[in-house]
Amino acid sequence: MKTSVIGFPRIGRFRELKFASESFFKGEKTPEELLSAGKELRKQHWALQESDGIDFIPSNDFSFYDGMLDTAVMLNAVPKRYRELKLDGLHEYFAMARGYQGPNGDVKALAMKKWFNTNYHYLVPEIGDETEIRLNGSKALGEFSEAKSLGAVTKPVVIGPLTFLKLSRFTGAKRAADFVPDLIRAYSLLLEKLGALGAEWVQIDEPILVRDLDAADLALFRKLHTGILKAKGPVKVLLQTYFGDIRDCYKDAAALDFDGIGLDFVEGKESLSLVRKNGFPDGKVLFAGLLNGKNIWRNHYAKTLPVLRELQGGAKQVVIGTSCSLLHVPFTVESETKLAPACKKHFAFAAEKLRELTDLKKLASCKAPEGTDEYRANEALFRSVRHEENKALKAKIDALTERDFTRRPAFAEREKIQKASFRLPLLPTTTIGSFPQTSDVRANRSAYRKGRIPEEQYVEFNKRKIKECIELQEKIGLDVLVHGEFERNDMVEYFGEHLNGFLFTEKAWVQSYGTRCVKPPIIWGDISRRSPITVGYAKYAQSLTKKYVKGMLTGPVTILNWSFPREDIPLKESAFQIALAIREEVLDLEANGIRIIQIDEAALREKLPLRKADWHSEYLDWAIPAFRLVHSGVKPETQIHTHMCYSEFGDIIQDIDNMDADVITFEASRSDLSILSALNKAGFRTEVGPGVYDIHSPRVPPAAEIRAALQKMLQKIPKEKLWVNPDCGLKTRGYAETVPSLEHLVQAAREVRSGL
Ligand code: GLN
Ligand code: ZN
Repeated sequence: MKTSVIGFPRIGRFRELKFASESFFKGEKTPEELLSAGKELRKQHWALQESDGIDFIPSNDFSFYDGMLDTAVMLNAVPKRYRELKLDGLHEYFAMARGYQGPNGDVKALAMKKWFNTNYHYLVPEIGDETEIRLNGSKALGEFSEAKSLGAVTKPVVIGPLTFLKLSRFTGAKRAADFVPDLIRAYSLLLEKLGALGAEWVQIDEPILVRDLDAADLALFRKLHTGILKAKGPVKVLLQTYFGDIRDCYKDAAALDFDGIGLDFVEGKESLSLVRKNGFPDGKVLFAGLLNGKNIWRNHYAKTLPVLRELQGGAKQVVIGTSCSLLHVPFTVESETKLAPACKKHFAFAAEKLRELTDLKKLASCKAPEGTDEYRANEALFRSVRHEENKALKAKIDALTERDFTRRPAFAEREKIQKASFRLPLLPTTTIGSFPQTSDVRANRSAYRKGRIPEEQYVEFNKRKIKECIELQEKIGLDVLVHGEFERNDMVEYFGEHLNGFLFTEKAWVQSYGTRCVKPPIIWGDISRRSPITVGYAKYAQSLTKKYVKGMLTGPVTILNWSFPREDIPLKESAFQIALAIREEVLDLEANGIRIIQIDEAALREKLPLRKADWHSEYLDWAIPAFRLVHSGVKPETQIHTHMCYSEFGDIIQDIDNMDADVITFEASRSDLSILSALNKAGFRTEVGPGVYDIHSPRVPPAAEIRAALQKMLQKIPKEKLWVNPDCGLKTRGYAETVPSLEHLVQAAREVRSGL
């Protein structure tokens, strides 16, 4: 029995890589200094895995920005516009990752997308007709040799050719199939070179295999890997999959000449039954992903061991590992100084998962594991009562009926009532919620958190900011106002901190993209609201103006999706608990005179299951009701808005409409607006505010540009249903660009309105 790690967090225990990279970007560190910071981290991470006795330690899982970008570089798929900058390798690499503006030119970064069902983002490689795929980069070779010189024979990790092709953007006429021979050559050469350096195993990651595959995908999979495996020589090849099961290609994978297959038994609902039904191919090693690589809870050995035993009965050789790369969990629980030990012992971040793997390896070879200290300690942990169950809440959830999820009257009638009562102009203008988080705003929050200023002073400052913000919006001439969200650090953390049931960490950062990390809260117990959260500021803001000020909340699905969820109850249960808590807030806002309430669901799309068959049964069937539960109790004349930071909901339009909000605003300025045709075709009834300008860039959009966008939108959306707003919140922007941008927005709306 051996242990394997698919990938380890790269950012470092204290985000060292982030800080080194950022000082390099600012010109404060030389390329050599950045490279050596990377080298030092790799060394530490390998040493840690070695000291825990991990048998298959990965190399080339490190990245200065992103593994997909590394793969593009390795395969020579660097788009022309970056080559033409004539930068050195490192600067060219970062130009692709972050864009480049300087003496050598001005180019935007590659597009970024969410990596499967995680909050990690990869860079989307571009493959054009002129792209010459060949083995170019030497990163995988270099890092293997580097580890070897430190005494570790690692398992180099590369993203596989199918995943690479399927996630790339083809910019010319050529398609995936046109690049097959070149890819086979490149990967074959890579295996040959790694073999020559002394690699025994190479891990080829093909997470794309857990998605729905059609016949063409399967043919491509077979063709690519048959070709590559022919040339593998003495190197053993592990086909590594994660984030689900490979039901569409299990037999194909088994028939190919891989030496090992890595399956995910945590998210892969059918992995076990695939092995049961088809058996595991003789002569291959089963890399069994049995520990959750995405969540932070300790593994329950009494549940894992029987599965491991069963697998050992089916496959000659089993290696135990995590379900996916540890990139998606924080580094170590050890860095948490404020969490109670009673809580801490329930968590396993990346470093602790290494220890669990070693425990399980030992237990698996024990005749009577139940008698060991490791097993007994683990059992005690799972027997202990973590927190009191909120029985009243449970009863409340059990008693929910269809009525609680249904707002009355139906949409069309409400729309009429609201139009008559609000008397807003056509194409009402608004913003998404936050206004620029200038340094004084952050300083005020931080001083309060650190106890340096009393609450009174903190609140006074926020009120002054709100007043300025309301005045500014009135001056600009917006129709529906916001308070500006100056009291909020983060849209999930802010609510989590005001609800029972959440735990917060100090150093539990997870890479989101490049140097950006997030610190998701942990859902520890049953969630309930202690007291009103946003009512004070909302009421104050509304008191300053005759215009309507939107109440601003984060929705239950987003709060859940951007936290580490519980594993002892279904996600649905936590979602409903959060929904009931936010529902109380909605009703309080309404009772306090707030007539328009926005409930953001920025992360709703993110956790849509990877397989279509699971979309409803596993997710939408509770996620959409959770949202409905939040707002179903309001009066017909209270208007409910929601917001989403993306417009890729073309495939779940009906579900979005079924959220039964009155208005939805979403990102649209960077998309091709094809979503509008889809909405039109589907007879979307919810009123819509497709963002008219991109807030992710400091650029000020001219009024004419916004006017043109609105005119285009009006071809697909009835004028009675169209709202005018930016793409997303303005918190990352400065006032210098925000004020003129909003002025242009109002001007454009007025001009277009006058022609209607
Ligand atoms: N209301 C939030 C804001 O404006 C929405 C943020 C988001 O969609 N990510 O900041
Ligand atoms: Zn947004």
